[in-house]
Amino acid sequence: MANRWRIPIEVEKYVLERDSTCVYCGIEFSNDNRKTKASWEHIVNDIRMNGTDNIALCCMACNASKGAKLLSIWLDGNYCKNKNITSETVANVVKEAITNPPKLIE
Ligand SMILES: [Zn+2]
Repeated sequence: MANRWRIPIEVEKYVLERDSTCVYCGIEFSNDNRKTKASWEHIVNDIRMNGTDNIALCCMACNASKGAKLLSIWLDGNYCKNKNITSETVANVVKEAITNPPKLIE
């Protein structure tokens, strides 16, 4: 069973518990503002990689900014510079993905 993003239910549950704030900017999720709504994120932009090491929750603002960019390139961009988001400030799951990128297991 999987949700509409093809994320397995058990991965979804785990990530919902783990990521109570945006994994990138750390903002607390809120439904009051479109930008601070939680959204499903593939840290490495490959929808086939659906493990807890690649699935995370981030705010809509970060998700929209990151888009299909490579994590390392996005972290170097203006959005992250303006928000003081660096490889040091992101959540552990993202740090882990920087040092040990999730890979597709065939
Ligand atoms: Zn964010």
